[in-house]
Amino acid sequence: MRPALDGLSRDGVLAWLRERDEEALGALWRRADQVRRARVGDAVHLRGLVEVTNYCVRHCAYCGIAACAGPLPRYRMTHDEILACARQGRDFGFGTVVLQGGEDPGLTGPFVAAVVRAIKAETGAAIALSLGERDDADLREWRSEGADRYLLRFETTDAALYRRIHPDVAGTVSDRIGQLLRMRDMGYEIGTGVMVGIPGQTWDTLADDIWTFRDYDMDMIGIGPYLPGPRTPLAGALGAELAAPLADQVPNDELTTLKAVALTRLVCPDTNIPSTTALSILDPAAGRANGLCRGANVVMPNLTPPEYRVLYEIYPGKAAMHETADALAEKVIALVDSLGRTMGSGPGTRLRTPPRE
Ligand code: SAM
Repeated sequence: MRPALDGLSRDGVLAWLRERDEEALGALWRRADQVRRARVGDAVHLRGLVEVTNYCVRHCAYCGIAACAGPLPRYRMTHDEILACARQGRDFGFGTVVLQGGEDPGLTGPFVAAVVRAIKAETGAAIALSLGERDDADLREWRSEGADRYLLRFETTDAALYRRIHPDVAGTVSDRIGQLLRMRDMGYEIGTGVMVGIPGQTWDTLADDIWTFRDYDMDMIGIGPYLPGPRTPLAGALGAELAAPLADQVPNDELTTLKAVALTRLVCPDTNIPSTTALSILDPAAGRANGLCRGANVVMPNLTPPEYRVLYEIYPGKAAMHETADALAEKVIALVDSLGRTMGSGPGTRLRTPPRE
């Protein structure tokens, strides 16, 4: 007997993650799409992504811009360059600008504060930051200057696995859930997420990850497949060491990622869920649309200038690396249209909606 899709327990999530029957999965896709429509509507919120720096002090074993990721030209965008991207997002009608980057102390607290203040004053857009583990004083200052949201994936609930793939930097202990909860108290909307199929991630771990999204009532949840990068330890010996036995290891494929997205929609019905770029790399023709039809309601078109975008290859083949922001925005808007959905207007803040069915 398959668990009912409404009122899922953690073990129900686990059973559905392992499901392979296409007809049964059809019911999961339909229910996730119904719940998405009932709870967050048909609007697809577009968040313009600006990859502001590829410097990083971390040694994350999966990431192509980690400090240990081999010789890589490094860049840090200027205040004016970031502002120009934010203006472009406003002109496309995007309600949010996302400033993402490696964990870069060279991107100082006052610098980010000034950028946030300027973007807010000029565009009025909602501002999401995704700059890694920063100290509370910086986070508070950025919030007071107008930053609305912060994205920080906890990557996995398996503490031992986390330590291996996301080593601490000298003198600190990484506690991403702790930072997320402190940021919520500061007034941020908080977003988190995981990669699907990292070596060592078992079905149980992924069920725990999804249940943790629900336990902490996350406002935004990004789920993408793990895409092994050639220069990264996790794609080599470390990955081979950490991989779980075949029956337990979660594959890093599109089907499993879509199951995780759909189940997350069911247990976190009014949260904002992007159809991730990584998903569109696994399946360039349909990945983005599949995510949007199985629970997702957000897309993050890339506004980073092409000369920097090619240096922000956190995983291989990052989609549309050479396409201009205009071409990308047009494509995403056409996709939203082709699915019979509408482009979100305004900031696309999470709205806590009661069940309507
Ligand atoms: N430095 C910030 C941080 O760590 O939160 C933001 C940038 S970081 C590159 C953004 C996210 O990219 C990570 O949280 C991780 O989940 C994802 N990522 C990194 N390497 C990846 C890979 N090889 N495959 C898929 N996703 C990856």
